[in-house]
Amino acid sequence: MIQAKGYAAQNAETDLAPWDFEHREVGPHNVQLEILYCGVCHSDLHQIKNDWFPGVFPMVPGHEIVGKVIKVGDHVKKFKKGDLAGVGCMVDSCQTCENCKEGLEQYCLEGSTQTYNNKGRDGVPTYGGYSNTIVVREEFVLHISDKLPLAATAPLLCAGITTYSPLRHWKVGKGHKLAVLGLGGLGHMGVKFGVAFGAEVTVLSTSASKEAAAKDLGAHHFVVTSDPAQIEAVRGSFDFILDTVSAEHDMDMYLSLLRTSGTQICVGVPSQPYAIQPFSLLGGRKSIAGSGIGGIPETQEMLDFCAEHNIVSDIEMIDIKDITASYARMLKGDVRYRFVIDMATL
Ligand code: NAP
Ligand code: ZN
Repeated sequence: MIQAKGYAAQNAETDLAPWDFEHREVGPHNVQLEILYCGVCHSDLHQIKNDWFPGVFPMVPGHEIVGKVIKVGDHVKKFKKGDLAGVGCMVDSCQTCENCKEGLEQYCLEGSTQTYNNKGRDGVPTYGGYSNTIVVREEFVLHISDKLPLAATAPLLCAGITTYSPLRHWKVGKGHKLAVLGLGGLGHMGVKFGVAFGAEVTVLSTSASKEAAAKDLGAHHFVVTSDPAQIEAVRGSFDFILDTVSAEHDMDMYLSLLRTSGTQICVGVPSQPYAIQPFSLLGGRKSIAGSGIGGIPETQEMLDFCAEHNIVSDIEMIDIKDITASYARMLKGDVRYRFVIDMATL
């Protein structure tokens, strides 16, 4: 077994703390990474707090992983020792169902294996990126360009692909008015991709203080959602709303901002079900849709797109000892726009 060290939650009530654990040996089709940086996703916090469902504890969170390949199995073809590489939210899937064959491993009909808070197909718990090393089958490891700053690339593995994938699926681009709801880790990547794809981008935010920063990200307009006059001015105007909000919010109000036949794409995962008045949809033939991360081929496409267009996340680097304080700041919306753990501080 490979000895690993990281930070884990022992249960949903305790804070993260140092924890030693083991990964399996590097099998013939496996790649071992030394983890250099790991992004802090709001999903990490949801999961250590059992917001969605009872978790698998001890839990080592982290699914925005970048680092260096330190060992490869005998049959590994795509990676060699010393390569930069990344791992996102998934580490395995059946590879044979129609979705896996299409490169939609996140929708594997047998269920994909999550990077942490899950058990692998061998029944062994998976442990994530708030740690010094990880062992992953080759198909779920991504190539990272050395053109991009490595730490700021980490959030692309979740926040990046989760916003890139739906914008591509719904072909959002030139001629579309896109609203990005919630300017956090996902939202700021949604703005960058929306702008890169040619859409007219409006940020819908509860935080008036984020206006200047949103414009710096490339957003064309900014709406403070607590101001009725600003909301009135954009009612019925958007083709798409990319909803990245992590907590309960007034869906009827946001649906009213869509034009006829518009679509609200939900990627945020509040802990409670949405409450929606049916007239909010049928009154304008509106749709609510959802999207989960992205498949492996599309994740590589997104990373290559970012390398070509010089797109990375805006980050604040943290010491792993400050993770609990960072979660508190994330809950207050006080992060511009992604915390990334420097694993040298482990
Ligand atoms: P985050 O950095 O905390 O950003 C969420 C943003 O939502 C906040 O910055 C805030 O933006 C806004 N917000 C928070 N509470 C709100 C409320 N009550 N009403 C309206 N707006 C509110 O979180 P994140 O890492 O981007 O993740 C966002 C959500 O996506 C989480 O639920 C996460 O679990 C989920 N997620 C889903 C997927 C997927 O595959 N679909 C992947 C990753 C993450 P403002 O200050 O601008 O209002
Ligand atoms: Zn995530």
